[in-house]
Amino acid sequence: MKAVVYKGKHKVAVEDVSDPKIQHPADAIIKITTTGICGSDLHMYEERSTAKPGCVFGHENMGIVEETGPGVMSIKKGDRVVLPFNIGCGICFNCTRGFTSACLTVNPKQPGAGYEYAGMGPFRGGQAEYLRVPFVDFNALKLPGKPQDELEDDFLLLSDIFPTGWFGAELAQVQTGSSVAIFGSGPVGLLAAMSSMIKGAAEVYVVDRSEERLKRAKSIGATPVNFTKGDPVEQIYALRASNKQLQQALRPEEKKMKGVMCAIDTVGYQAHSGQKPSQEDPMQTFKWIAKVINPTGTVGSVGVYFEEDPVGVDSNASKGIFEMPLGELWGKGVQLGMGQTPVKKFIPFLRDLIIAGKANPSFIVSHRIPLEEAPDAYEKFDHRGIGVGKEYTKVLIKPGMKKAA
Ligand code: NAD
Ligand code: ZN
Repeated sequence: MKAVVYKGKHKVAVEDVSDPKIQHPADAIIKITTTGICGSDLHMYEERSTAKPGCVFGHENMGIVEETGPGVMSIKKGDRVVLPFNIGCGICFNCTRGFTSACLTVNPKQPGAGYEYAGMGPFRGGQAEYLRVPFVDFNALKLPGKPQDELEDDFLLLSDIFPTGWFGAELAQVQTGSSVAIFGSGPVGLLAAMSSMIKGAAEVYVVDRSEERLKRAKSIGATPVNFTKGDPVEQIYALRASNKQLQQALRPEEKKMKGVMCAIDTVGYQAHSGQKPSQEDPMQTFKWIAKVINPTGTVGSVGVYFEEDPVGVDSNASKGIFEMPLGELWGKGVQLGMGQTPVKKFIPFLRDLIIAGKANPSFIVSHRIPLEEAPDAYEKFDHRGIGVGKEYTKVLIKPGMKKAA
């Protein structure tokens, strides 16, 4: 079959690889109908992780069940399914508590397994024609409808970034009436904004430097903040201060709470610096969050921080050690949650929101392409909404799509 193979720094190629096979009685083989390119793939693509050339990328996968192992009970050939990017066993201490993000059995090396992701075990990705799915009864989420119907792209986003945006909002404890600042307007930031709206937030600010991406945040009713136009925290203070009705409703002492009650980091260790946007400052979002969060606020961090980055900004950053404004966060009594999303815990409910017409995460999708065009799409998406390819916000690969003539 054909697949997207990682060839080393800034290079992927579509090549023939061996077909996946049933290796365990609980496995299934899925024929991929749609698979996403994720901001997480870019860390590997840029050689900013421990991923090695030769692997097949793709942890955002959906399709039709082609074959099942003899131990599979409830999933059948022909079923339409979406797969969480985490692979869980369903029976370990963490999976039974819903934390499939830290499954103790599937990855032989450490807790947490996934389809071709740095450190998450020996499982090939799905940017390919077919994918082997371990423990399919537990992992696959069944979907209604038919391939490429009007909900295909919404459903694909259940594999990772819709639940990740949602998880960010859960960790930040967003609820009815909350004020929320989201750092990052990439796919995850945009879906954290949509999730915050669904949860009933009153104010949602989205910070980035990509005007293309901020436009999409605005299109769903969030307030865009471009950090190259001034300190984003001061911009959020000013936006709140200029809201006359809000200010009239506050008692004098409440006016000290100039910031927000909830903040979400959807950027991770490749954050750009506010002072020098062409350079990285891995703690930039945490510095802004520490300032913008009100005392006793709640913070969720779903942007990735690796323990190993071959080219970190300094020797500590290369080991995943960062200088964060802990004193300021501690002094404010902030609650902070972080980590890989336990996708399976959320997606039956998020699927049903999509079916009910109450969530349409596919508003972020900018490109739908055949497998052959993946190398070009990686190159463009890698600019993260700036300069060449700035319109590449979210790319979905459709292996069954014919290449344009
Ligand atoms: P992306 O790289 O396309 O988006 C990141 C965005 O952050 C870009 O638009 C960029 O301009 C912006 N940005 C850079 N520096 C910034 C700063 N200082 N302040 C505000 N915005 C800034 O990627 P994505 O697909 O949206 O993914 C975002 C992050 O989420 C990545 O680190 C990815 O690995 C991670 N992720 C985590 C999980 C999880 O399970 N926790 C799942 C999926 C993705
Ligand atoms: Zn992803």
